[in-house]
Amino acid sequence: MHDAHFQKSKQLVIATNNVHKIREFKAILEPILPFLDLLSLLDFPKYIPPEETGSTFKENAILKATDAAKALNLLSLADDSGLVVPALNGEPGVFSARYASEKSSDVDNRKKLLSKMEPLSEKDRYAYFECCIAIASPDKIKVCACAVCEGRIIEKEKGSGGFGYDSLFIKHDYNKTFAELEESTKNKISHRRKALDKILPSLEAIFI
Ligand code: IMP
Repeated sequence: MHDAHFQKSKQLVIATNNVHKIREFKAILEPILPFLDLLSLLDFPKYIPPEETGSTFKENAILKATDAAKALNLLSLADDSGLVVPALNGEPGVFSARYASEKSSDVDNRKKLLSKMEPLSEKDRYAYFECCIAIASPDKIKVCACAVCEGRIIEKEKGSGGFGYDSLFIKHDYNKTFAELEESTKNKISHRRKALDKILPSLEAIFI
């Protein structure tokens, strides 16, 4: 179907089942929510997302957005994100969600990270979150943007909010982990927020 169809339609599917990501996207996209009908993969339980075979966040974001757009015949937005520790040669990187094992939980992944970081010096505890977001229609990628949020990994978990590695990550110039910050504060400063800010003009051009 021609692209013009998707420009008139108000539907946008966020190509994830991760409820934490969905909540963050909804909060960050709040200003344009009246102009679109925001869906997620929770609305399409039969759709099976592709394997994340890319070696970069960008490749995986494009893969996920393109696959969902084609399969669901909808405009789709996908993010691929994760934590990068340069002193661990970039681990967990694109394997952030499956760091400890293929079906690992956030708790397992944090445990593995803490044990790998135990011998590292304070300066080597530098880390950053990266997020790449792609928007695709069924026949092409419309835009892709990436952003990072820099900080450090602490030695013991702190805070109960958030998800993933939030309870281990303190952004530069802050003294609370992402899991201790109000969600609204995290959503003003996160890698996801910064990447979304870059593609917001494209979303506005499509929907407003
Ligand atoms: P994805 O769903 O393949 O993009 O994997 C994302 C993984 O990266 C998550 O499961 C988390 O482990 C980690 N991650 C990404 N963004 C965040 C965040 O904002 N906070 C904490 N962990 C994150």
